Amino acid sequence: MRQSLIMGNWKMNGSRESAKSLATAIMAGLKEGDTGIAACVPYVYLADLQELTANSPLAVGAQNVADQESGAYTGEISSTMLKELGCEYALVGHSERRSYYGDTDESVATRFCEAQKNGVTPVLCIGETLEEREANKTFDVVNTQLDAVIEKAGIEALKNSVIAYEPVWAIGTGVTASDEQAQEVHKAIRERIAAKDQTIAESIQILYGGSMKPANAKGLLAMADIDGGLIGGASLDAESFLAIYQSV
Ligand code: PEP
Repeated sequence: MRQSLIMGNWKMNGSRESAKSLATAIMAGLKEGDTGIAACVPYVYLADLQELTANSPLAVGAQNVADQESGAYTGEISSTMLKELGCEYALVGHSERRSYYGDTDESVATRFCEAQKNGVTPVLCIGETLEEREANKTFDVVNTQLDAVIEKAGIEALKNSVIAYEPVWAIGTGVTASDEQAQEVHKAIRERIAAKDQTIAESIQILYGGSMKPANAKGLLAMADIDGGLIGGASLDAESFLAIYQSV
């Protein structure tokens, strides 16, 4: 039985005060022993949230990580720095990074390895655009994005990672993949991993992301291969985020 994981992606939202209030409100809805809940927050709030969440089930993550260890890489944040701030997770290859900031399959694979090297669990985001889905390329796209990481990191590396299937057309649009559409891709991802390693395929958490809300979470999370959610918009409201967490 895979442990579920509900992860927020706050993107570039909020202020120092609102980040602390949001985390406080989320923590207020959790009880001792709760697990499988995290928020990927802007880098500049990590230190505050590390302190605030120290005795809470709420884990903290970053939204990206450098593809280099250290040195002259202006504007980048290394996985050692993230680890020092108590970061458990780092998103890699979010579609906004791929489309606005030029992250490629190759650089995403390098970021994945960098995160793992220092004990930060990478959350590999993969997914197709609407044009790709309409051209029946969904599986090719997702496989290529996944294979780039497997080739670079090796199949064993997937043991300490999370995958998020995020159809680009569903991110921030209010349009969600149907339960069946999402399940079909999640199953294919798991089968692709199983072809290389059955045990890892059975244990890896594959999250769904793309306009997940309290109203649609239950159906998606009930699907056999959907182990949780990566939530953008709805994670900025503690009540909605907790409602999704509680619908697992
Ligand atoms: C995301 O950015 O990862 C995401 C899933 O956003 P939203 O929930 O707003 O679609």
